[in-house]
Amino acid sequence: MKLLYEGKAKKIYEADNPNEVICEFKDSLTAFNGEKAASESGKGELNCAITTLIFKALEKEGIPTHLIKQIDSTKLLVKKVDIIPIEVVVRNIAAGSLSKRLGLKEGEKLPFTIVEFYYKNDDLNDPLINDDHAMILNLVNDRKELDILREYGRKINEFLTKFFDKIGLTLVDFKVEFGKDKDGHIILADEITPDSCRLWDKKTGKKMDKDLFRFDLGDIKEAYTEILKRLKEVK
Ligand code: 5GP
Repeated sequence: MKLLYEGKAKKIYEADNPNEVICEFKDSLTAFNGEKAASESGKGELNCAITTLIFKALEKEGIPTHLIKQIDSTKLLVKKVDIIPIEVVVRNIAAGSLSKRLGLKEGEKLPFTIVEFYYKNDDLNDPLINDDHAMILNLVNDRKELDILREYGRKINEFLTKFFDKIGLTLVDFKVEFGKDKDGHIILADEITPDSCRLWDKKTGKKMDKDLFRFDLGDIKEAYTEILKRLKEVK
């Protein structure tokens, strides 16, 4: 397989069909823009399974995704897209960079859900941007596309909040990425995993996401395995 691109958590390979690519989930773990790095054997497999389950559920809800099918334990066949270099972050509860930037206490429920855009650029440390910044950087064609990203972010949040609630998890916040398919349609790409979401156990309040790795709080494999187990039980 011809490697087209290697990122921090995934490798992208050419597929037989030029409109498709193969996305492999790696075991590597990084945080703070790659400053902290490690590897956790089996993490790629867990995240591949978790993303597949969530993307299939989102498709049923009418949210288009790049997923075509899972090929093996760490690989997905996906639609080839041009990634829009905007990280769409949706937050229900204060945590992470929001708490740090605005001095909000971690765990404080926000009066309403907020959507933020970050410019996906490692050299600049993925800065927070507004619509005007996205336009002057030509990250999208027009402002309507930014509205589409926000709208999808909110829809995904509405669905996932209920979905995770059913399995005893609070969806604190998450990051999603979108791309344009061959027809120019905006579809959900990348992943939705405990690497890209904050998920807290409702009973114990324990963190079950990448913050365990970011702040050396516990075993991510145990937490991700538990999340996958619970997701498989969702009716
Ligand atoms: P924060 O801005 O508080 O660091 O992150 C907000 C949410 O988006 C968290 O759930 C975090 O995991 C996710 N997120 C933000 N940036 C990235 C990123 O570059 N990679 C991944 N995997 N998740 C991110």
